[in-house]
Amino acid sequence: MTTSTDVFTLTAAFHEAFGTVPDGVWQAPGRVNLIGEHTDYNEGFVLPFAIDKTAKVAVRVRDDSTVRLLSTFGGHGLVEASLDGLEPGSGEGWSRYPLGVAWALKERGVSVPGFELLLDSDVPLGAGLSSSHAIECAVITALNELTGANLPAEELVLATQRAENIFVGAPTGIMDQSASLRGAKGQAVFLDCRDQHVELVPFDAEASGLVLLVIDTKVSHSHADGGYASRRASCELGAQVLGVTALRDVGVEDLEAASGLLDEVTMRRVRHVVTENDRVLQTVELLGAQGPASIGPLLDASHASMRDDFEISCPELDLAVDTARANGAIGARMTGGGFGGSAIALTPVGEEHKVRDAVVRSFAEAGYTAPDIFTVTPAEGAFRLA
Ligand code: ADP
Ligand code: MG
Repeated sequence: MTTSTDVFTLTAAFHEAFGTVPDGVWQAPGRVNLIGEHTDYNEGFVLPFAIDKTAKVAVRVRDDSTVRLLSTFGGHGLVEASLDGLEPGSGEGWSRYPLGVAWALKERGVSVPGFELLLDSDVPLGAGLSSSHAIECAVITALNELTGANLPAEELVLATQRAENIFVGAPTGIMDQSASLRGAKGQAVFLDCRDQHVELVPFDAEASGLVLLVIDTKVSHSHADGGYASRRASCELGAQVLGVTALRDVGVEDLEAASGLLDEVTMRRVRHVVTENDRVLQTVELLGAQGPASIGPLLDASHASMRDDFEISCPELDLAVDTARANGAIGARMTGGGFGGSAIALTPVGEEHKVRDAVVRSFAEAGYTAPDIFTVTPAEGAFRLA
């Protein structure tokens, strides 16, 4: 199916696949993180927003415990499973996301019936825009309503984390699903990962004559597992040596003293997290006081910190960021977990094509796979469409 399938087409496709009409259609967005990288598991601050690319699910509950799943993407066949005796680690491919969410709700005491589900998503896979959370959030929003559980957003965030961490086995935090479930049009989600406190912060780039470009480098971040785990371990070591619960409790003013206590690599890892937390707070303040046009230098500083201190960038991301900056972007950084995925570039409306062309050209000259470049705007979090 093409991008952004409408409800009518999705409902018709559901009918064709399952011979019945769905009980409803729900949608949940992917997300872009504006700033605040690898701060989530350090109980720090992040500033993502829900994007205008979404996963839609048409769902119908059954009167047994059978689950039947179909995606419009990439010729996956029908997946059939039973909710009885569902165990972490079971399921294959994308079915692990809806099954994981059903499992996590059951674990919370919700009685989840079997269901038929048709997925259609235009969130690019593996680009660092959280296509997996878009699926999970669409499904959990549907099941939360269809079961009458009506759990609050904070609980859905935690259940989704259990689905990813325990059922799927991906060691992710709470940022992605918080943006997908709690995002709002024209707003970024300022999230305190320690207590899930959320503040919506206006981020209307267009009103400031700017667009936010996403540059998908097409470098798969799936090989990042080892790098991600070792960064987490460094952060834990840093917190332990410094005698704090989490690096969230270390301030920029503490860094000089910390350098005497930590080995050189751990020190750089700690410095990234501590300064990145500070940059999130500064970004929130600047967005409120002066608007999007003022945050460029913070985006640049965030990228430099990830490239040099946290060492999670890669040549393709650096080239995307540097080329965007040299051709009119007022700030740019890699976004997401790193080692691939996407960069973002905050760009004046008139300069968009120049940035786009320059990045495409530079990738061709370097012999890299052609990047995918598109704009995103802050959009509504998960909701029922029909
Ligand atoms: P990210 O969440 O950053 O996009 P992940 O590796 O966490 O990357 O999730 C990507 C996985 O999500 C894919 O491998 C696939 O299993 C699943 N997925 C995402 N979108 C779809 C879709 N439209 N149809 C089927 N599976 C999908
Ligand atoms: Mg994911």
